[in-house]
Amino acid sequence: MNPDILAHTESVCPICLRTIAATRIAEGNDVYLLKQCPDHGAFKTIIWRGLESYRHWGEHGSRTAPPPITETMAQHGCPHDCGLCPEHKQHSCCVLLELTPRCNLRCPICFASADHAGNEPTLAEIESWLQRLQAHSSPVNIQLSGGEPSIRDDLPEIIRLTHCMGFDFVQLNTNGILLAKEPDYAKTLKEAGLDCVFLQFDGVSDRVYQHIRGARLLEIKIQAIEHCAQAHLGVVLVPTLIPNVNVDEIGAIIAFALAHVPTIRAVHFQPISYFGRYPKPPADHDRITLPEVMQELEIQTHGMVHAADFSPGSAENAYCSFSGKFFVDTRGHLSAPAKTTEKCCSTQSGCGCGAPIPGEDVQRARRVVAGQWAAEQVPKPTAVPSQINISSLDAFLALRRHSFSISGMVFQDAWNLDLERLRECFIHVVSPDRRIIPFCAYNLTAASGQALYRRPHHEHAQV
Ligand code: SF4
Ligand code: SF4
Ligand SMILES: [Zn+2]
Repeated sequence: MNPDILAHTESVCPICLRTIAATRIAEGNDVYLLKQCPDHGAFKTIIWRGLESYRHWGEHGSRTAPPPITETMAQHGCPHDCGLCPEHKQHSCCVLLELTPRCNLRCPICFASADHAGNEPTLAEIESWLQRLQAHSSPVNIQLSGGEPSIRDDLPEIIRLTHCMGFDFVQLNTNGILLAKEPDYAKTLKEAGLDCVFLQFDGVSDRVYQHIRGARLLEIKIQAIEHCAQAHLGVVLVPTLIPNVNVDEIGAIIAFALAHVPTIRAVHFQPISYFGRYPKPPADHDRITLPEVMQELEIQTHGMVHAADFSPGSAENAYCSFSGKFFVDTRGHLSAPAKTTEKCCSTQSGCGCGAPIPGEDVQRARRVVAGQWAAEQVPKPTAVPSQINISSLDAFLALRRHSFSISGMVFQDAWNLDLERLRECFIHVVSPDRRIIPFCAYNLTAASGQALYRRPHHEHAQV
């Protein structure tokens, strides 16, 4: 039986990384990416389990607006021209700065290959990266990343510098070890201007941490969250989901998060993707796709959230992510707010053409992330309505309910990379040579482990 071809796209060969044609095909109820390299043969990888939800999800087209400035030429074909190049379709929304290749853990699954020695960028180099981002004119959220960025003694200074240069939302990607071990560290970072801690949090049992991170870390995570609470720093839990390792803890992770609201503002799931050396292609049963995560959320929260509560992001390709916004009631239960109609040109200017406003979706995505992930503002007692009437009391009570978001993003690797998705990427990395590279291209490695872009810092020449 011939498979149904759903769409034609492009990808890379996982062996030689050359750009090759690819198709998305349906087989039974599953969707695969199929491609053939003239030298290395055919590759077929699961990308979505559930044909109906695949079709439904694709109805939400992303609203793209090309980046205002491009730095490289479209010469060799995507993904070999990153810079950004003129073929890229979306602005930067969130930009990662890799502050160090060093780490205080040795995780078997790390895509930053954080065990290699390499120089760290100096403060002056970081300033030059930020200047390059300023030249791109529209504001972006900054993620300080690594390796483990908290290993740098000058992290508070870097946070201050980032804010001083006009970037108003700064988050830290961390394993939480320093936050746990040094009780005042969260306060120091908060005082420097940190807005949010993006905390690796793979589960609620040491079995999971031992498997994924090579250490028993649950107590460390709990302590890190306590110290963030004392410093009034918002925390987002970031679980990497691996089939047969921690998928069964999805519900327990949500329950843990709800028990720590309002310090914990959100849970952001990342199904595992495969970077580094893989002599054999990762098996399909070693992947979990986005609709399965949404279904597990429904099952493991016993219907407190529903798969239908989630939607794709509108600033990135629909197949990259899902997100849902909820309220937490006084019993710690979640309810989904009514869905709102998304803004387009017609609602903004009244012209009625329905066209997206260039860059508006990226800017909205940026503001939504900043608003939800930063620590919640504590309402002042004076906010209590002085004259009780039902509608103002309702409004006040609605304000007192905590908001909470659940989201997920599935990164792409050499096997499942779809260049249509990559060209719409809005999460970018400033590479040491100051090119701006979409995240999934920056981390891309061939099956041999050879990276397309990522190099130890000292190998880069400045451009
Ligand atoms: S990912 Fe974007 S910037 Fe990189 S080569 Fe493709 S279109 Fe150009
Ligand atoms: S980082 Fe990867 S998964 Fe996320 S938006 Fe960019 S291309 Fe999509
Ligand atoms: Zn090849």
